[in-house]
Amino acid sequence: MYITEVALKIMSEHKVCNSCLGRLFSMLGKNVDNYSKGKAIKTSIYISAYRNLLKGRYRDEIKILETIAKNGGFKPAYDTLKGLNISINEKEFICELCGGLIDKMDEYIYSAIDKLRSIEYNTFIVGVTIPSELVSREDAIRSKFKLPYVEALKKELNRRIGLKMTLLTGKHVEFKMPDVLVHIDFVRRNVNIKTRSVFIFGRYLKLKREIPQNIWICGNCNGLGCTQCNWTGRKYQVSIEELIGEPISKMFNAKKWKFHGAGREDVDARVLGRGRPFVIEIIEPRKRNIELENIAKVVNDLNKELVKIQDLAYVNKSLVKDLKIRAKIAKKTYSVKIKVEGGVSEEELKHLVETFKNIIVEQRTPIRVLRRRADKIRRKRIYSIDTKIISNDVFEAIITCQGGLYIKEVVSGDGGRTKPSFTEILNKKATCLELDVIDVE
Ligand SMILES: [Zn+2]
Ligand SMILES: [Zn+2]
Repeated sequence: MYITEVALKIMSEHKVCNSCLGRLFSMLGKNVDNYSKGKAIKTSIYISAYRNLLKGRYRDEIKILETIAKNGGFKPAYDTLKGLNISINEKEFICELCGGLIDKMDEYIYSAIDKLRSIEYNTFIVGVTIPSELVSREDAIRSKFKLPYVEALKKELNRRIGLKMTLLTGKHVEFKMPDVLVHIDFVRRNVNIKTRSVFIFGRYLKLKREIPQNIWICGNCNGLGCTQCNWTGRKYQVSIEELIGEPISKMFNAKKWKFHGAGREDVDARVLGRGRPFVIEIIEPRKRNIELENIAKVVNDLNKELVKIQDLAYVNKSLVKDLKIRAKIAKKTYSVKIKVEGGVSEEELKHLVETFKNIIVEQRTPIRVLRRRADKIRRKRIYSIDTKIISNDVFEAIITCQGGLYIKEVVSGDGGRTKPSFTEILNKKATCLELDVIDVE
């Protein structure tokens, strides 16, 4: 059967616009868009019918012209019929296949471009939502008329909107990691713009004690505010994540942010040396290319004597997972000030250093964190320790170990839950006075 015959059969049952008619035969041929194809098919039907009219054949030809006028919205057919004094009710023509969406496409495109004006981006991708009845109607027509060369409506809309936006904005479509997702919803009749998160790796130094890494809500009131927390709802007023996240989020004009640390230190421990690795996830940013030096400067100037960030780098999302995995095994070095009841001698420290050379420590979850963490046994390696006497009952230890080891308990023994411990080996009660993280691998 000729294409024109199939097309006429379809149009005898359904209203079909030029684009949709061409779309039904979309995969036939190259470099001709669906609209041109559809129009050409209708034109071809029209001129054949017209030739027959000239030859004096009327009956079938009038019907054909009526079909492509009424159900094809083909203007020349209307005009010809009018010339023959055949009146056709010229109602508004709405294509049954696209519901007129193809004609409305431009409105949405301009709305999207308008919304994108305040956003910094280079690449984008378009997604569309169309009414489900259009999809099922398309499927029904496709199978009823046995049409194997159809381009789905959704695909055509995606493609054409992407193409037109490329022309209008000079930005380009990217499928894998677009900066912006443009979602055009033909059902709810709106345009939604979502920008992809930006991820920045860095290392932070914590220069002052008594700052938790994460926001710490008052346990007494659960954040509602009470006398204990002075109506702030917080146990600690600031956190590392806020000191870093807030200013960065502001610089990127982002909706929100999320902080991912490579492990975390105790509230009362400082982080020195190279600092602890972290990734800050900047969610729905309106800016995305800010010089890293500038970011570090802004954050560090704001947080003098509290927090310092360095070694910043733009990274991919996948690093967040790697960071968490690595934190569990990466080498950490601590500096600990330790008090020993009854004093400590050089001889005893020498014994301590020898005992803790490359040793596995068995550690049950410390009592102080038992409320938040599951009770289990961790086996972590201490690579080495180094010691220095400060006074007759205080010494400093530099401990290099695997991540995830609770250092305070290595010192105290936690009532026998951590083995071996300094308390156990010295056979004197040892407690941690001060703790600093001085290196994280
Ligand atoms: Zn259509
Ligand atoms: Zn409270």
